[in-house]
Amino acid sequence: MAITRFAPSPTGYLHIGGLRTALYNYLWARKTGGEFKLRIEDTDMARNSEDALKAILQAFEWVGLDYDGEVEYQSKRMDIYKGYIQKLLDEDKAYYCYMSKEELDALRESQTAAGLTPRYDGRYRDFKGTPPSDISPVIRIKAPQEGEICFIDGVKSDMVFSCDQVDDFIIARSDGTPIYNFVVVIDDHLMGITEVLRGDDHLTNTAKQIVIYEALGFNVPKFYHIPMINNPEGKKLSKRDGATDVMEYKNLGYLPEALLNFLVRLGWSHGDQEIFSMEEMLTLFDPNNINKSSSCYNAEKLLWLNAHYIKNKPNQELAEILKFYDCEIHGHDKVEMILDLCKERAGTMLELKNSIELIINTPSSYDETGVNKFINEDIVKILEIYAKMIMDYEGELHLACDYETITKPFIAQYALKMPQLFQPIRLALTGSTQAPSVYDIMAILGKNEVLKRIYTAIEKKFS
Ligand code: GLU
Repeated sequence: MAITRFAPSPTGYLHIGGLRTALYNYLWARKTGGEFKLRIEDTDMARNSEDALKAILQAFEWVGLDYDGEVEYQSKRMDIYKGYIQKLLDEDKAYYCYMSKEELDALRESQTAAGLTPRYDGRYRDFKGTPPSDISPVIRIKAPQEGEICFIDGVKSDMVFSCDQVDDFIIARSDGTPIYNFVVVIDDHLMGITEVLRGDDHLTNTAKQIVIYEALGFNVPKFYHIPMINNPEGKKLSKRDGATDVMEYKNLGYLPEALLNFLVRLGWSHGDQEIFSMEEMLTLFDPNNINKSSSCYNAEKLLWLNAHYIKNKPNQELAEILKFYDCEIHGHDKVEMILDLCKERAGTMLELKNSIELIINTPSSYDETGVNKFINEDIVKILEIYAKMIMDYEGELHLACDYETITKPFIAQYALKMPQLFQPIRLALTGSTQAPSVYDIMAILGKNEVLKRIYTAIEKKFS
């Protein structure tokens, strides 16, 4: 039973890398019958923002990852942290350091000049004298001075940090506020977190956090450090590679299930399976199978997954989601037919909206490139004859196949190639050459509307 958490800092929107971390923690907690908690790491007052917090909570709601209990806010827990800092001071496991900025700079410089990695030299570790009166001290932890800090990472196996890589680092600033690594440990302990899945950019933090766990006598949780998501050039994913803000994916017309499916595969696999429903993710996901190497963002794969989920979504749900994109289709009497047709070829909800609107709205203009390519006097004459044929036809004209039945002989009679007739009809009916199947559109529009749109286009000379 894993108790996991996601712990974003509200300094910006929720990044898709963050959502992947949240998803993995969520899946593992739910799969094992444990708990998934949300903690807002808002101790950096200068960089926190209310908007960022809202964006994070909103993104969670959109993707439907539910968390257990109340959201924890670090900013409300300062007294708890200070209590633990005092405990370490009382037990002589932490100490005040009165080094001035100048002294620190000088130390760093001399170490760098000697080719050493800068590290605190422990000069106040066992200080018993009278401290300088003009310095507000920071608080440092007594880190082990020799040996190794080791842990078994669920992704990276044995991790070993030599103690000379970790100095007596600061746990509280001179104003008494605790630093990031300290509060994370206290919270993870008090929240009962048993497993921590997070980006591998936190690996060195983990070594420091283990020093704190040990000083406080807390159980160390199991860690899984997830390799980063890179762009196709192998560099860290950034804004330049497209959207990175989770909510921007919503605006671009992605479905949350497609995004989650995409993210679960960015760093984890199950054979060569690509499509995972939430149920399957919950059954199959195991953090012990997270890939050891970084993953590569693939925009085409995401689009392909999105198309899959749109195609397989019930029409009523699609109609509901379309409202967000200002596409109101509920009241339309052919809503089922329209969605059945349009969802087959939509990569995003915006594309779906676009093809729906091509059908339900009378064209206000005609695509110029299409007109130049497909419309000429001869074809306008053919269109007139075609429209007349439809008008005079006395049989049933309800289904796509009815239109096909009368159109096929017409094409043969005038020795036309399919696009020669279909593209002009498509242009006349929708204003575009990109619309779905002509027969289906005609069946949706009905005979009267088809004739009206064809005659209007002819009258307006497709302009
Ligand atoms: N607040 C940290 C971040 O946003 C996460 C810390 C953690 O998962 O331990 O990167």
